[in-house]
Amino acid sequence: MGKLDVVILRYLTSEDFRVLTAVEMGMKNHELVPGSLVASIANLRHGGVHKLMKELCKHRLLTYERGKHYDGYRLTNSGYDYLALKALTNRKVIASFGNQIGVGKESNIYTVADEDRNPLCLKLHRLGRTCFRNIKGKRDYHAHRNKASWLYLSRISATKEFAYMKALYDRDFPVPKPIDFNRHCVVMELVRGGPMTHVTAVDDPEVLYDELMNLIVRLGNCGVIHGDFNEFNIMITEEGHPIIIDFPQMVSTSHPNAELYFDRDVRCIREFFKKRFGYESEVYPKFSDLERDDELDTEVACSGYKRAKDVDDELLEEMGIGLAVSDDEGSSDGEPEESERSTQYTDEELAALRQEVDKSIINDEKQPHIEHVVDK
Ligand code: ADP
Ligand code: MG
Repeated sequence: MGKLDVVILRYLTSEDFRVLTAVEMGMKNHELVPGSLVASIANLRHGGVHKLMKELCKHRLLTYERGKHYDGYRLTNSGYDYLALKALTNRKVIASFGNQIGVGKESNIYTVADEDRNPLCLKLHRLGRTCFRNIKGKRDYHAHRNKASWLYLSRISATKEFAYMKALYDRDFPVPKPIDFNRHCVVMELVRGGPMTHVTAVDDPEVLYDELMNLIVRLGNCGVIHGDFNEFNIMITEEGHPIIIDFPQMVSTSHPNAELYFDRDVRCIREFFKKRFGYESEVYPKFSDLERDDELDTEVACSGYKRAKDVDDELLEEMGIGLAVSDDEGSSDGEPEESERSTQYTDEELAALRQEVDKSIINDEKQPHIEHVVDK
C-alpha cells in the first residue's frame, strides 16, 4: 500500500493555498470554476492567479477542463487532500506521514506522527464516487452538487465522524482519542491491535461477547446506534479489549428505523461469534430494553456537523451513509448534465465569497480541537 504524496506540501506557498481554497469555494456552485471567478475570489494583492493555477495543474492539484457551457478549473482529489493536510500541518497537529494501513469502504487510513513523533492515525474520507442513481428523486434539490458532491459528502462524513468520536470519548467509551479534523480528514489516536475480523481465537468468548453487547446497550442508552457494528469496525487491543471505530453512519435511537439498525448491530455480533468462535447465547439485548439516560444524539446534531452547513440527512442516508448499506460501486448511469448557476456574480456575492475564503483560511490556522497530547 502506498504512501501519501506529501512532498508537495513543502513547496506550495500561502498564495497557492488561497487559490486552491478559492477553487474549493467556487465548486460549491460550479462543477468547473472559471479562471476569472477564481481570480476574483482569491483576490491576491499582486494578481498572478492564472499563472499559479497553471502551476497547480502541473502538480495535479487542479485540472482545467472543457465544459458544455464554459471551461474552468476543478479541484482534484489530491488538491483537496493537499488543502486538508496543509491545514493540519500548519496547525501542528501532524508533522510527518507514514504508510497506508487500511483501505475501508469509503476511506483511506494512514499512520502519521505529531511533532514529538507520537504515532497517530489519519483517516481520509472518500465518498461520492459511487453512483447517483439513488438520488434521482432529489435531483432538483441537489442539482448543482452532482459532480462536486464528493467534496461535500466526504467533508460531512469526516465532520460527523469527529463529532461522534468526541462525544463518545468524552463519555469514556472505548474509542480512539479524537485529535482534530479538517475537511475530509480526521486525525485520531492510533489503536494498538487489529480489527476483530483478524482474531481467530479468544480465551473466553463469553467475556468479549458480553463486553460488546454491553457497549451496544450503553450506546443505546445514550441515544445512539453505531449502525455498522461488525468485526471490521471493532478493533481488539493487545489486552483483548474492544475499541470501536468508524462512526459516520451513526444514528439516533429516535430515528424511525432505529430498531432495525439496533437489531442488525446485535445480529452482526451474534453471527460473528457463532461462526468464528462457535459461541451462541440466548442472552442478547433488545431495543425495548434501552433506558435512555443521555442525549448524545442531540448533542452531536446540535454541535458538530449540523451547524456548519446545510446537511440533508435524508440524502446522506439514501446514498448509504446514514444506513451503512453497502452500495454497488461505479457507473454514473449516464445522467444528463445538470445546469448550474450562472457565472455572473454581483459585487455583493463576490464580496461574500471572498469573505468565505478568508474565514476558511483563518479556520485552517486555528488551534486543534483537542490538545494532541497522547495519553500513556
Ligand atoms: P471505513 O469507514 O472506510 O470502513 P474504518 O474507520 O473502518 O474505515 O477504518 C478502516 C480500517 O483501518 C480498520 O478496519 C482498521 O484496520 C484501520 N483503522 C481505522 N482507524 C484506526 C485507528 N484509529 N487505529 C488503527 N487502525 C485503524
Ligand atoms: Mg469500517
